[in-house]
Amino acid sequence: MSAQLLQGGPLAQTMRAQVAQTVRELAEQGRPVCLAAVQAGERPESLMYVESQRRYCNEVGIDFRLKQLPDAVTQGAVMRAVQELNEDSGVHGIILQLPLPARIDAQAAQRAIDPRKDAEGIHPVNLGLLVYGVLQCAPCTAFACYHLIKSLDQDLYGMEAVVVGHSQIVGKPMGLLLQHDFCTVTTCHVATRDLAMHTRRADILVVAVGKARLITKEMLKPGAIVVDVGINQAPALSKKGKPLLDTEGKPRMRTVGDVDFEGAKEVAGWITPVPGGVGPLTTTMLLRNVAQAAKNLYLQERREHPELSGPLLPFDRGGET
Ligand code: NAD
Repeated sequence: MSAQLLQGGPLAQTMRAQVAQTVRELAEQGRPVCLAAVQAGERPESLMYVESQRRYCNEVGIDFRLKQLPDAVTQGAVMRAVQELNEDSGVHGIILQLPLPARIDAQAAQRAIDPRKDAEGIHPVNLGLLVYGVLQCAPCTAFACYHLIKSLDQDLYGMEAVVVGHSQIVGKPMGLLLQHDFCTVTTCHVATRDLAMHTRRADILVVAVGKARLITKEMLKPGAIVVDVGINQAPALSKKGKPLLDTEGKPRMRTVGDVDFEGAKEVAGWITPVPGGVGPLTTTMLLRNVAQAAKNLYLQERREHPELSGPLLPFDRGGET
């Protein structure tokens, strides 16, 4: 058996087109949508991420603003930067670029973001709303995995779902999303005694750990939907499982997930590749959150200031981006 590929690219493209449409409608009402990023210092991985956010925003018509702070920034200055963006009615989404310098309490800074502008969907208010099934700003990676699973158009009611990893931003919200579809959800983590015993029962397996090839084909139920969130650098292997070397005789590295893809695809029904599975959708969810936030803020403004109301836009009548 060979699994079908569950790729994020095509779905991401469709969703970005929907986001672009919402952004266009808002712009036509004189309300350009804006995402603001706060960055401290000049860490190369963070700079790369900022540039890719700028590119994605440009693609769907969202303005991108960068608030650059010095490496020696204080906690107070980070909090003030966030507060200014909270109060700026021209900003609809805020993202704090991690890592921040070690002395900065990043969680406190993230919690200071107005939950209505929480581009990453990880503010305690938004995670709390998720418990009630309300997706105002959705946690990007978990929501990306959820969309991939839903794109298979299967009835999830009663399915066994196993989530490996219980981080606040991926594993925990993932479990909540699947529960809303009446999956029976098991969450595994570093203290789980017999991981394989759980994963072998999974009709849906989502893995978000950060350990290359943690999940092998022996740990899967035949036909399972396997969503691999992990991003790891690991030695590239030949078909016989030997490390491949570069011209200098050093192990050649490649990006892999938490699932041993080559083995798993013999057993799974569907599987996400790494790269190319969850990744492309995650950034799309960020854009979706910003457009959704702009739409919500606009609707709130109309309620508070009816004198500003013009004719109803299509999205005023409800529905999601
Ligand atoms: P994290 O690093 O905060 O936590 C890791 C989780 O794995 C914890 O719940 C821990 O208990 C669990 N764990 C550790 N060892 C384990 C083991 N041996 N067996 C079972 N569980 C174990 O997690 P995170 O921030 O959710 O990130 C997880 C991975 O997902 C990382 O590789 C990260 O780079 C990747 N990631 C990818 C995307 C994307 O868009 N594709 C987004 C976010 C994170």
